[in-house]
Amino acid sequence: MPQNFLSTPIEYLNGVGPQRAKLLRTELGIDTYGDLANLFPNRYVDKTKYYKINQLIDGNTQVQVIGKIISIKTVPTGKVSRLVATFIDDTGKMELVWFRGQKYFKDNLKLNQPYVVFGKVQRYGATFSMAHPDMELLKDHQSRAQQAMAPIYPSTETLAKRKITNVYMVKLMRSLYSEIHNSFIETLSEEVLSGYSLMGKNQAMKEVHFPSTARHLQAARYRLKFEELFFIQMELLLKNKVRKSKIKGYPFQEVGDNFLDFYNNHLPFELTGAQKRVVKEIRADMGTGAHMNRLLQGDVGSGKTIVAVLTCLLAIDNGFQACIMAPTEILAQQHYAGVAELLEKTDLSVGLLTGSVKTKERRELHERLEDGSLHILIGTHALIEDKVKYKNLGVAIVDEQHRFGVAQRAKLWKKNELPPHVLVMTATPIPRTLAMSVYGDLDVSVIDELPPGRKEIKTVHRYDKNRLGVFKFIRDEITKGRQVYVVYPLIEESEKLDYKDLQDGYESIVREFPLPDYKVSIVHGKMKPEDKDWEMDRFVKGETQIMVATTVIEVGVNVPNASVMVIESAERFGLSQLHQLRGRVGRGADQSFCILMTGFKLSKEARTRMETMVRTTDGFEIAEVDLKLRGPGDLMGTRQSGIMNLRMADLVKDQQILAIAREAASKVLKEDPAIQLDKNQPIKRVMAYLQSKKGFWKYIS
Ligand code: ADP
Ligand code: MG
Repeated sequence: MPQNFLSTPIEYLNGVGPQRAKLLRTELGIDTYGDLANLFPNRYVDKTKYYKINQLIDGNTQVQVIGKIISIKTVPTGKVSRLVATFIDDTGKMELVWFRGQKYFKDNLKLNQPYVVFGKVQRYGATFSMAHPDMELLKDHQSRAQQAMAPIYPSTETLAKRKITNVYMVKLMRSLYSEIHNSFIETLSEEVLSGYSLMGKNQAMKEVHFPSTARHLQAARYRLKFEELFFIQMELLLKNKVRKSKIKGYPFQEVGDNFLDFYNNHLPFELTGAQKRVVKEIRADMGTGAHMNRLLQGDVGSGKTIVAVLTCLLAIDNGFQACIMAPTEILAQQHYAGVAELLEKTDLSVGLLTGSVKTKERRELHERLEDGSLHILIGTHALIEDKVKYKNLGVAIVDEQHRFGVAQRAKLWKKNELPPHVLVMTATPIPRTLAMSVYGDLDVSVIDELPPGRKEIKTVHRYDKNRLGVFKFIRDEITKGRQVYVVYPLIEESEKLDYKDLQDGYESIVREFPLPDYKVSIVHGKMKPEDKDWEMDRFVKGETQIMVATTVIEVGVNVPNASVMVIESAERFGLSQLHQLRGRVGRGADQSFCILMTGFKLSKEARTRMETMVRTTDGFEIAEVDLKLRGPGDLMGTRQSGIMNLRMADLVKDQQILAIAREAASKVLKEDPAIQLDKNQPIKRVMAYLQSKKGFWKYIS
């Protein structure tokens, strides 16, 4: 915070000096007193507890042992050597090991003097070993009272090498706090503090480094996490508000004949509750005069298409056109066929524009688009070529957003006076809380309910050695008239090997399922698009029974007759990809199956992935597990990765605090949109500070 004392450069602190200041700066980003105070411990350990060597267990997180070094030697292992000290107490012996800074330790460690060593132990054969322990002489250790909750600070390899140890960091923190007593200015209002029973800023900042009791520590951490998430939510909510007030959109206030006629007379099924809710949200959003920028999340098969169609009808009722953009030609065709069928009994005209539409037809489409006689245009990227001019595009619907770049979407905006409303549809479920913080500035609609009567896809995990059984199962399904996908992973780094796997797999399938009884298609990314489409098309039409493919089929294709998905080397796929792949089956009336093939040896994480897929078909539940396994950064790619740079809070573990902090933030903004009430001054000060710090905005926009 902008306080003089806390902005004192770190080298002025007792015990720092220019050398170490430089290290703290480059390694941990600590420039000032304030930065140091905000370096929060990763965790806490009980330093009043000591283990005897004969009490050690493999994989103990962190243990403290008292003993002495009786010998030190350098042990060569291949190209690198390591320094090994034999460490004993009255119950046994263990090893201390160093790979880095060997000379220093060899020269400085004292033999036969009591030390306290602290670190993680691992068992090698009968011997326990601790690598790069934190250690100090017992007499130094005893000269201070030891804490039951001793903080462990973040460190880096360079810091460890340069002997900036945890013991040093603790000393530094002590030296800092002897200078800065209660210098922190409260950042939250009285109302928020008391309303959510939060500890004050100064007390929390002290407890977090020097916990007095476990309860105080917990309250301090809660408060600091809350604060962090609260201000992120404030920013996101404000940004959303600003966007809505700045960017105007066509107000679609009419719910007119087209919508009502279709809704009352031509709906092929009753909408699910979730579909109704989402249509309402979209209607309300497009009616305000602000620009809609909305993400529509819904698992595969949840029925996003009908929502898209109803959204188009709203635009048409207000005198505008609509377009639906798909990432591939096949998908565009399928959308076109589906939408045209839905609107068959209406007077509305629907066009299809893709790369393969002939010149003459294309010219005609262009004309009808410009004179407004074409209501809905469906297609691929061809929709946003410069030649394509709409009379008045009111809404653009983009399917499977991850295949479309931001730049491409921006192109759509240039075709009008006002930008058309945008609805992005995605079948990649994002856990609600994550969506809340990552897309906090977008509006999100969620279809969280499948249409009734769906048969749950049966999923099993099989080892490679059971392949014959799997082949037999496939044969039986084909005999019943069904079709089968067999998917191979394709990872860029090992592309060559992967193609070999795919080819080998294809050949063994062809051997197992020979002509003329069986026909097998193969599709992969190295094929020419025309060939790919041709093969796909054969499968879609049912001319081939088995489709061997890489993940190119992941997105969207609809072959209701395909009822078996075999995923080879399933352990190499991430959960969300497995879920997407599985979504290719289960689209028809028949019972569908997904078979995950793996080798016998699996990592713990891979096993969890398989178990999760077998246990559930709920995309949101799967996304939650994925988030836990991989962490939010990975899950979201680099997008807005800044939000993952949380100091204290954790988007996985602190989802509840996030929800509460968001509620608190919206309450404040609702009552005081411009943050100008007296009581909200503390909050206003922080917001002003954050906005002055450019870096903060980076992850927001
Ligand atoms: P996705 O969300 O994957 O795009 P679709 O819109 O393709 O899903 O819908 C999947 C299938 O479910 C389609 O065959 C569609 O006709 C059907 N469907 C959608 N909504 C309903 C509903 N409310 N009741 C019954 N069937 C529905
Ligand atoms: Mg779809």
